[in-house]
Amino acid sequence: MAVHGTGSYDPDNIFAKILRGDIPCKKVFENEWVLAFHDIAPKAPVHVLIIPKKAYVSFIDFSKNASVEEIAGVMQSAGRIAADLHLEQAGYRLITNAGQNAGQEVPHFHLHLMGGKALPAFPA
Ligand code: 5GP
Repeated sequence: MAVHGTGSYDPDNIFAKILRGDIPCKKVFENEWVLAFHDIAPKAPVHVLIIPKKAYVSFIDFSKNASVEEIAGVMQSAGRIAADLHLEQAGYRLITNAGQNAGQEVPHFHLHLMGGKALPAFPA
């Protein structure tokens, strides 16, 4: 797995282990750019994590170091997953937490896709 950006990417973080198949996940979608799977502690009826297959710590790392093709691939995948999960009509939330103040637990850039109910006003 290529390491980009800050140099502080931890290749043993949980999502890196999921990408390697070292620990299981409930897969929702996979293509050349992303792996998407159900969050282990869902905060909504639909709570899917969308992670790039390459190693980025955060959104800034991703935005600086991914190619335009990869950024498009990841974002288009997120849109496809939201549509495939029938979230378009009812609405959904797509967020990323970055760093300590945002409560990022896993230091591999990821998008949270949440929906399936009326979500609390943001930020909750
Ligand atoms: P963060 O706080 O970094 O934005 O979100 C990390 C998310 O990963 C949390 O919502 C947490 O429940 C989820 N998570 C942590 N460990 C695992 C795991 O081993 N498997 C899955 N599927 N989700 C995990």
